[in-house]
Amino acid sequence: MIQIPPQAGSSFELGKGHILAIRSPTGQQVCDLFCFSKARPRDALSSGRSIDYNETVRFTKGHVLYSNAGYPLLEIFDDTCGVHDFLVTPCSSQMFQMISGSNQYHPSCQENLCKGFLRYDLPEELITTTFNIFMNYRIDEFGDLSLLTPTNTSEDYILLKAREDLIVGLTACADEATNGGECKPIEYSITNEPNF
Ligand SMILES: [Zn+2]
Repeated sequence: MIQIPPQAGSSFELGKGHILAIRSPTGQQVCDLFCFSKARPRDALSSGRSIDYNETVRFTKGHVLYSNAGYPLLEIFDDTCGVHDFLVTPCSSQMFQMISGSNQYHPSCQENLCKGFLRYDLPEELITTTFNIFMNYRIDEFGDLSLLTPTNTSEDYILLKAREDLIVGLTACADEATNGGECKPIEYSITNEPNF
């Protein structure tokens, strides 16, 4: 397993058919994921298209995550948690400044993803809604959102199988409020087999 330290990020290539396994060694920690097609680098992960084609906002095993152009990018091969978010963008310095009312620096998933994708010449403006693994947003009957503590434990994991060659960015989410008050590491591995 490769560890992403608290409030940090990583980027890498994920070959077609390979499986990306993600877990939190402590539990109660979110991992933001975004990806691009390697063959069509301007074609990125699309929340809207994935929600439309799967007819759900509660993604889990068996669902497929699509690109803006409608290509299947990732299949959720296995998922022991079942609580993830695909509605909101990664936490950003702008978000932290809005909440705190100050210009004080705070690390963010947006910054960490930008740094990771810069290695592949992929610009910030193409990063949109992330697949927020283990993020626990509840939607009430009026459509309002409540941010709750993630339910994942150290035993939980998600396996994502690449449907084509991808460039992937991952973070250990940098927002204390999203992660039960404390930011913790994330672990991931890339394998040919689903033997996580
Ligand atoms: Zn975050």
